Amino acid sequence: MRGQLFDNHGRPINYLRLAVTDRCNLRCFYCMPEEGIDYVAREELLSYEEMLRIVRTLVPLGIHKIRLTGGEPFLRRDFMDFLRASSRMAGLEQIHLTTNGTLTEQHVPELKALGIRSVNLSIDTLDRQRFHEITRRDSLPQVLATLDALIAHGITTKINAVVMDGRNIEDILPMVAMTNDYPVSVRFIEEMPFNGGDAHYTKLPWDHHRIIAHIRAAYPTLEKLPDPPNSTSYNYQIPGHQGSVGVIAAYSRTFCGTCNRIRITPQGLLKTCLYDQGVFNIRDLVRAGATDAQLQDAFTTALQHRAVDGWEAEGRQTKDPAGRESMATIGG
Ligand code: SAM
Ligand code: SF4
Repeated sequence: MRGQLFDNHGRPINYLRLAVTDRCNLRCFYCMPEEGIDYVAREELLSYEEMLRIVRTLVPLGIHKIRLTGGEPFLRRDFMDFLRASSRMAGLEQIHLTTNGTLTEQHVPELKALGIRSVNLSIDTLDRQRFHEITRRDSLPQVLATLDALIAHGITTKINAVVMDGRNIEDILPMVAMTNDYPVSVRFIEEMPFNGGDAHYTKLPWDHHRIIAHIRAAYPTLEKLPDPPNSTSYNYQIPGHQGSVGVIAAYSRTFCGTCNRIRITPQGLLKTCLYDQGVFNIRDLVRAGATDAQLQDAFTTALQHRAVDGWEAEGRQTKDPAGRESMATIGG
Protein backbone atom coordinates (compact mmCIF):
# COMPACT_ATOMS: atom_id res chain seq x y z
CA MET A 1 0.00 0.00 0.00
CA ARG A 2 1.47 3.33 -1.04
CA GLY A 3 -0.91 5.25 1.16
CA GLN A 4 -4.35 6.71 0.76
CA LEU A 5 -4.67 9.33 -1.97
CA PHE A 6 -5.97 12.71 -0.76
CA ASP A 7 -6.72 15.80 -2.80
CA ASN A 8 -5.46 19.30 -2.02
CA HIS A 9 -8.61 19.92 0.04
CA GLY A 10 -7.98 16.93 2.31
CA ARG A 11 -10.64 14.73 0.75
CA PRO A 12 -9.75 11.02 0.50
CA ILE A 13 -10.15 9.62 -3.02
CA ASN A 14 -11.30 6.01 -2.99
CA TYR A 15 -13.76 5.67 -5.87
CA LEU A 16 -13.11 5.49 -9.62
CA ARG A 17 -15.76 5.78 -12.29
CA LEU A 18 -14.41 4.17 -15.42
CA ALA A 19 -16.22 4.63 -18.73
CA VAL A 20 -15.42 1.55 -20.81
CA THR A 21 -16.86 2.90 -24.06
CA ASP A 22 -18.34 6.07 -25.53
CA ARG A 23 -20.64 4.02 -27.81
CA CYS A 24 -24.29 3.55 -27.05
CA ASN A 25 -27.30 1.81 -28.58
CA LEU A 26 -29.72 4.44 -27.22
CA ARG A 27 -29.75 8.14 -28.06
CA CYS A 28 -31.13 9.78 -24.91
CA PHE A 29 -31.66 13.35 -25.98
CA TYR A 30 -30.11 14.80 -22.78
CA CYS A 31 -26.94 12.78 -23.39
CA MET A 32 -26.29 12.50 -27.13
CA PRO A 33 -27.42 14.06 -30.36
CA GLU A 34 -29.51 11.82 -32.60
CA GLU A 35 -26.97 11.77 -35.40
CA GLY A 36 -23.50 12.98 -36.26
CA ILE A 37 -21.88 11.65 -33.11
CA ASP A 38 -18.13 11.93 -33.10
CA TYR A 39 -17.15 8.59 -31.64
CA VAL A 40 -13.58 8.23 -30.46
CA ALA A 41 -11.46 6.19 -32.88
CA ARG A 42 -11.07 2.60 -31.73
CA GLU A 43 -7.29 2.82 -31.27
CA GLU A 44 -7.77 5.83 -29.03
CA LEU A 45 -9.94 3.88 -26.61
CA LEU A 46 -8.25 2.30 -23.65
CA SER A 47 -7.95 -1.44 -24.15
CA TYR A 48 -9.24 -3.71 -21.39
CA GLU A 49 -5.64 -4.61 -20.60
CA GLU A 50 -4.80 -0.94 -20.15
CA MET A 51 -7.86 -0.42 -17.95
CA LEU A 52 -6.89 -3.36 -15.74
CA ARG A 53 -3.36 -1.99 -15.44
CA ILE A 54 -4.68 1.44 -14.43
CA VAL A 55 -7.07 0.06 -11.84
CA ARG A 56 -4.35 -2.21 -10.47
CA THR A 57 -2.13 0.85 -10.10
CA LEU A 58 -4.84 2.78 -8.29
CA VAL A 59 -5.74 0.08 -5.75
CA PRO A 60 -2.57 0.68 -3.65
CA LEU A 61 -3.53 4.38 -3.56
CA GLY A 62 -6.72 3.47 -1.73
CA ILE A 63 -9.18 3.11 -4.62
CA HIS A 64 -11.28 0.18 -3.45
CA LYS A 65 -14.49 0.87 -5.38
CA ILE A 66 -15.05 1.21 -9.10
CA ARG A 67 -18.12 1.87 -11.18
CA LEU A 68 -18.08 0.69 -14.79
CA THR A 69 -20.14 2.92 -17.00
CA GLY A 70 -20.04 4.49 -20.44
CA GLY A 71 -21.63 4.87 -23.07
CA GLU A 72 -23.30 1.53 -22.65
CA PRO A 73 -20.82 -0.88 -21.06
CA PHE A 74 -22.58 -4.04 -22.30
CA LEU A 75 -22.19 -2.81 -25.87
CA ARG A 76 -18.42 -3.16 -25.77
CA ARG A 77 -17.28 -6.52 -27.04
CA ASP A 78 -16.07 -8.94 -24.35
CA PHE A 79 -17.25 -6.69 -21.52
CA MET A 80 -18.09 -9.76 -19.42
CA ASP A 81 -14.48 -11.02 -19.79
CA PHE A 82 -13.30 -7.66 -18.48
CA LEU A 83 -15.74 -7.87 -15.60
CA ARG A 84 -14.55 -11.37 -14.70
CA ALA A 85 -10.93 -10.18 -14.69
CA SER A 86 -11.82 -7.11 -12.60
CA SER A 87 -13.70 -9.23 -10.09
CA ARG A 88 -10.55 -11.26 -9.48
CA MET A 89 -8.37 -8.22 -8.76
CA ALA A 90 -6.84 -8.28 -5.28
CA GLY A 91 -7.74 -5.27 -3.15
CA LEU A 92 -10.61 -4.13 -5.34
CA GLU A 93 -13.46 -4.50 -2.89
CA GLN A 94 -16.48 -3.23 -4.81
CA ILE A 95 -17.53 -3.24 -8.45
CA HIS A 96 -20.70 -1.37 -9.41
CA LEU A 97 -22.27 -0.94 -12.83
CA THR A 98 -24.38 1.68 -14.57
CA THR A 99 -26.32 0.41 -17.57
CA ASN A 100 -29.27 1.29 -19.74
CA GLY A 101 -30.48 -2.29 -19.30
CA THR A 102 -31.14 -3.05 -22.96
CA LEU A 103 -28.47 -5.77 -23.26
CA THR A 104 -28.10 -6.69 -19.61
CA GLU A 105 -30.81 -9.21 -18.71
CA GLN A 106 -29.02 -12.32 -19.97
CA HIS A 107 -25.94 -11.48 -17.87
CA VAL A 108 -27.73 -10.90 -14.57
CA PRO A 109 -27.13 -14.40 -13.10
CA GLU A 110 -23.40 -14.01 -13.75
CA LEU A 111 -23.37 -10.48 -12.31
CA LYS A 112 -24.73 -12.04 -9.13
CA ALA A 113 -22.15 -14.85 -9.23
CA LEU A 114 -19.30 -12.35 -9.72
CA GLY A 115 -20.40 -10.38 -6.66
CA ILE A 116 -21.26 -7.13 -8.45
CA ARG A 117 -22.27 -4.88 -5.55
CA SER A 118 -25.00 -2.87 -7.21
CA VAL A 119 -26.45 -1.92 -10.56
CA ASN A 120 -27.73 1.52 -11.49
CA LEU A 121 -30.35 1.12 -14.17
CA SER A 122 -31.43 4.17 -16.16
CA ILE A 123 -35.19 4.46 -16.63
CA ASP A 124 -36.66 7.92 -17.16
CA THR A 125 -40.27 6.85 -17.71
CA LEU A 126 -42.52 3.80 -17.38
CA ASP A 127 -44.46 4.83 -20.47
CA ARG A 128 -43.29 3.05 -23.62
CA GLN A 129 -44.09 5.93 -25.97
CA ARG A 130 -42.30 8.49 -23.82
CA PHE A 131 -39.35 6.13 -23.40
CA HIS A 132 -39.14 5.95 -27.18
CA GLU A 133 -39.26 9.73 -27.48
CA ILE A 134 -36.62 10.35 -24.81
CA THR A 135 -34.17 7.61 -25.83
CA ARG A 136 -35.11 7.60 -29.54
CA ARG A 137 -35.39 3.80 -29.32
CA ASP A 138 -38.32 1.51 -28.45
CA SER A 139 -36.55 -0.53 -25.78
CA LEU A 140 -38.56 -0.17 -22.56
CA PRO A 141 -39.65 -3.87 -22.46
CA GLN A 142 -36.02 -5.08 -22.47
CA VAL A 143 -35.09 -2.59 -19.75
CA LEU A 144 -37.97 -3.67 -17.52
CA ALA A 145 -37.01 -7.33 -18.07
CA THR A 146 -33.54 -6.42 -16.76
CA LEU A 147 -35.10 -4.74 -13.73
CA ASP A 148 -37.13 -7.87 -12.96
CA ALA A 149 -34.05 -10.07 -13.34
CA LEU A 150 -31.95 -7.85 -11.06
CA ILE A 151 -34.61 -7.95 -8.38
CA ALA A 152 -35.18 -11.68 -8.77
CA HIS A 153 -31.43 -12.23 -8.24
CA GLY A 154 -31.32 -9.99 -5.20
CA ILE A 155 -28.86 -7.51 -6.70
CA THR A 156 -29.01 -4.06 -5.09
CA THR A 157 -30.62 -1.89 -7.74
CA LYS A 158 -30.94 1.85 -8.11
CA ILE A 159 -33.03 3.41 -10.82
CA ASN A 160 -31.66 6.63 -12.32
CA ALA A 161 -34.25 8.98 -13.81
CA VAL A 162 -33.24 12.31 -15.28
CA VAL A 163 -35.95 14.90 -14.63
CA MET A 164 -36.73 16.88 -17.77
CA ASP A 165 -39.12 19.78 -18.00
CA GLY A 166 -41.89 19.02 -20.49
CA ARG A 167 -40.69 15.44 -21.04
CA ASN A 168 -41.27 13.22 -18.05
CA ILE A 169 -42.66 15.24 -15.14
CA GLU A 170 -45.79 13.06 -15.24
CA ASP A 171 -43.52 10.06 -14.59
CA ILE A 172 -42.15 11.28 -11.27
CA LEU A 173 -45.04 10.02 -9.13
CA PRO A 174 -45.50 6.63 -10.88
CA MET A 175 -41.79 6.04 -10.41
CA VAL A 176 -42.03 6.97 -6.74
CA ALA A 177 -44.93 4.49 -6.51
CA MET A 178 -42.57 1.74 -7.73
CA THR A 179 -40.83 1.89 -4.36
CA ASN A 180 -44.00 0.42 -2.84
CA ASP A 181 -43.71 -2.74 -4.91
CA TYR A 182 -39.96 -3.07 -5.44
CA PRO A 183 -37.00 -2.89 -3.04
CA VAL A 184 -35.27 -0.34 -5.25
CA SER A 185 -33.95 3.14 -4.77
CA VAL A 186 -35.45 5.47 -7.37
CA ARG A 187 -33.18 8.49 -7.81
CA PHE A 188 -34.24 11.58 -9.66
CA ILE A 189 -31.30 13.40 -11.26
CA GLU A 190 -31.18 17.08 -12.10
CA GLU A 191 -30.51 17.42 -15.81
CA MET A 192 -26.95 18.53 -16.56
CA PRO A 193 -25.76 20.40 -19.65
CA PHE A 194 -23.88 17.42 -21.14
CA ASN A 195 -25.91 16.45 -24.17
CA GLY A 196 -23.14 16.59 -26.77
CA GLY A 197 -24.58 19.82 -28.19
CA ASP A 198 -25.87 23.16 -26.99
CA ALA A 199 -27.34 23.30 -23.51
CA HIS A 200 -31.08 23.71 -24.00
CA TYR A 201 -31.88 25.79 -20.94
CA THR A 202 -30.30 28.70 -19.13
CA LYS A 203 -31.92 28.07 -15.78
CA LEU A 204 -32.71 24.60 -14.50
CA PRO A 205 -36.52 24.37 -14.29
CA TRP A 206 -36.59 21.27 -12.06
CA ASP A 207 -33.97 21.45 -9.34
CA HIS A 208 -33.81 19.13 -6.33
CA HIS A 209 -35.99 21.44 -4.18
CA ARG A 210 -38.78 21.44 -6.75
CA ILE A 211 -38.58 17.68 -7.33
CA ILE A 212 -38.90 16.94 -3.61
CA ALA A 213 -41.71 19.48 -3.17
CA HIS A 214 -43.56 17.77 -6.02
CA ILE A 215 -43.18 14.36 -4.38
CA ARG A 216 -44.06 15.66 -0.92
CA ALA A 217 -47.27 17.21 -2.24
CA ALA A 218 -48.44 13.72 -3.25
CA TYR A 219 -46.84 11.89 -0.31
CA PRO A 220 -46.99 14.21 2.73
CA THR A 221 -45.55 11.46 4.94
CA LEU A 222 -42.28 11.43 2.97
CA GLU A 223 -39.49 10.96 5.51
CA LYS A 224 -35.86 12.02 5.24
CA LEU A 225 -33.42 9.12 5.61
CA PRO A 226 -29.84 9.53 6.84
CA ASP A 227 -27.56 9.90 3.79
CA PRO A 228 -24.60 7.48 3.63
CA PRO A 229 -21.13 9.10 3.71
CA ASN A 230 -20.11 10.49 0.28
CA SER A 231 -23.66 10.07 -0.97
CA THR A 232 -24.54 12.18 -3.99
CA SER A 233 -28.26 11.75 -3.30
CA TYR A 234 -30.58 13.14 -0.65
CA ASN A 235 -32.54 10.10 0.41
CA TYR A 236 -36.14 9.73 1.51
CA GLN A 237 -38.70 7.01 2.13
CA ILE A 238 -42.43 6.74 2.16
CA PRO A 239 -43.35 4.85 5.33
CA GLY A 240 -44.35 1.28 4.50
CA HIS A 241 -42.69 1.27 1.06
CA GLN A 242 -40.01 -1.36 0.39
CA GLY A 243 -37.73 0.97 -1.52
CA SER A 244 -36.51 4.53 -1.17
CA VAL A 245 -36.43 7.75 -3.16
CA GLY A 246 -33.40 9.91 -3.83
CA VAL A 247 -32.66 13.22 -5.49
CA ILE A 248 -29.28 13.91 -7.04
CA ALA A 249 -28.46 17.60 -7.28
CA ALA A 250 -26.09 17.02 -10.17
CA TYR A 251 -26.59 20.50 -11.59
CA SER A 252 -26.85 22.37 -8.26
CA ARG A 253 -23.69 20.58 -7.12
CA THR A 254 -24.46 20.45 -3.43
CA PHE A 255 -22.41 17.29 -2.82
CA CYS A 256 -18.94 18.47 -3.87
CA GLY A 257 -17.70 18.99 -0.30
CA THR A 258 -17.36 15.26 0.34
CA CYS A 259 -16.48 14.17 -3.20
CA ASN A 260 -14.36 11.02 -3.09
CA ARG A 261 -14.35 10.16 -6.78
CA ILE A 262 -12.35 10.50 -9.95
CA ARG A 263 -13.35 9.61 -13.50
CA ILE A 264 -11.47 8.10 -16.40
CA THR A 265 -12.99 8.56 -19.84
CA PRO A 266 -12.96 5.89 -22.58
CA GLN A 267 -9.88 7.51 -24.15
CA GLY A 268 -8.05 7.62 -20.83
CA LEU A 269 -8.56 11.22 -19.77
CA LEU A 270 -8.50 11.68 -16.01
CA LYS A 271 -11.23 13.97 -14.70
CA THR A 272 -10.92 14.99 -11.07
CA CYS A 273 -14.38 16.59 -11.33
CA LEU A 274 -17.39 15.88 -13.53
CA TYR A 275 -17.27 19.53 -14.58
CA ASP A 276 -13.58 19.79 -15.48
CA GLN A 277 -12.29 19.27 -18.99
CA GLY A 278 -9.82 16.55 -18.08
CA VAL A 279 -6.54 16.88 -16.26
CA PHE A 280 -4.17 14.54 -18.11
CA ASN A 281 -4.28 11.55 -20.39
CA ILE A 282 -3.30 8.43 -18.50
CA ARG A 283 -3.44 6.32 -21.69
CA ASP A 284 -0.57 8.32 -23.21
CA LEU A 285 1.54 7.68 -20.12
CA VAL A 286 0.73 3.97 -20.19
CA ARG A 287 1.54 3.73 -23.90
CA ALA A 288 4.79 5.65 -23.37
CA GLY A 289 5.90 2.85 -21.03
CA ALA A 290 5.40 4.54 -17.63
CA THR A 291 6.12 2.37 -14.60
CA ASP A 292 3.47 1.79 -11.93
CA ALA A 293 5.27 4.27 -9.68
CA GLN A 294 5.23 6.92 -12.42
CA LEU A 295 1.51 6.39 -12.98
CA GLN A 296 0.86 6.65 -9.26
CA ASP A 297 2.92 9.86 -9.07
CA ALA A 298 0.91 11.31 -11.95
CA PHE A 299 -2.38 10.62 -10.15
CA THR A 300 -1.05 12.00 -6.87
CA THR A 301 0.15 15.20 -8.54
CA ALA A 302 -3.10 15.69 -10.47
CA LEU A 303 -5.10 15.50 -7.24
CA GLN A 304 -3.05 18.36 -5.79
CA HIS A 305 -4.66 20.79 -8.22
CA ARG A 306 -8.27 19.73 -7.82
CA ALA A 307 -11.00 22.34 -7.93
CA VAL A 308 -12.86 22.73 -4.65
CA ASP A 309 -16.22 22.14 -6.36
CA GLY A 310 -17.96 21.78 -9.70
CA TRP A 311 -18.44 25.53 -10.03
CA GLU A 312 -14.73 26.22 -9.77
CA ALA A 313 -13.99 23.32 -12.14
CA GLU A 314 -16.45 24.68 -14.70
CA GLY A 315 -15.00 28.17 -14.34
CA ARG A 316 -11.54 26.81 -15.17
CA GLN A 317 -12.72 25.32 -18.48
CA THR A 318 -10.99 26.85 -21.46
CA LYS A 319 -13.14 25.08 -24.07
CA ASP A 320 -16.01 26.80 -25.86
CA PRO A 321 -19.13 25.81 -23.90
CA ALA A 322 -21.02 25.42 -27.20
CA GLY A 323 -18.89 22.32 -27.79
CA ARG A 324 -20.43 20.62 -24.76
CA GLU A 325 -19.38 17.12 -24.01
CA SER A 326 -21.73 14.16 -24.06
CA MET A 327 -22.30 12.36 -20.78
CA ALA A 328 -21.45 9.19 -22.71
CA THR A 329 -17.84 10.33 -23.16
CA ILE A 330 -17.57 11.62 -19.60
CA GLY A 331 -18.92 8.43 -18.06
CA GLY A 332 -21.99 9.42 -16.13
N1 SAM B 1 -25.55 4.00 -20.72
C1 SAM B 1 -25.60 3.80 -19.32
C2 SAM B 1 -26.88 4.33 -18.73
O1 SAM B 1 -27.59 5.08 -19.41
O2 SAM B 1 -27.13 4.00 -17.58
C3 SAM B 1 -24.40 4.36 -18.59
C4 SAM B 1 -23.89 5.71 -19.02
S1 SAM B 1 -25.00 7.08 -18.77
C5 SAM B 1 -24.04 8.41 -19.40
C6 SAM B 1 -24.94 7.23 -17.02
C7 SAM B 1 -26.01 8.06 -16.38
O3 SAM B 1 -25.85 9.42 -16.78
C8 SAM B 1 -27.43 7.68 -16.78
O4 SAM B 1 -28.18 7.38 -15.63
C9 SAM B 1 -27.97 8.88 -17.47
O5 SAM B 1 -29.33 9.06 -17.23
C10 SAM B 1 -27.13 9.99 -16.87
N2 SAM B 1 -27.06 11.17 -17.74
C11 SAM B 1 -26.69 11.23 -19.03
N3 SAM B 1 -26.76 12.49 -19.49
C12 SAM B 1 -27.19 13.25 -18.47
C13 SAM B 1 -27.49 14.63 -18.32
N4 SAM B 1 -27.35 15.49 -19.32
N5 SAM B 1 -27.94 15.06 -17.12
C14 SAM B 1 -28.09 14.20 -16.08
N6 SAM B 1 -27.82 12.88 -16.15
C15 SAM B 1 -27.38 12.41 -17.33
FE1 SF4 C 1 -26.72 5.88 -23.89
FE2 SF4 C 1 -26.73 6.05 -21.26
FE3 SF4 C 1 -26.32 8.22 -22.77
FE4 SF4 C 1 -28.71 7.12 -22.77
S1 SF4 C 1 -27.68 8.03 -21.00
S2 SF4 C 1 -27.56 7.76 -24.61
S3 SF4 C 1 -28.24 5.01 -22.53
S4 SF4 C 1 -24.99 6.50 -22.58
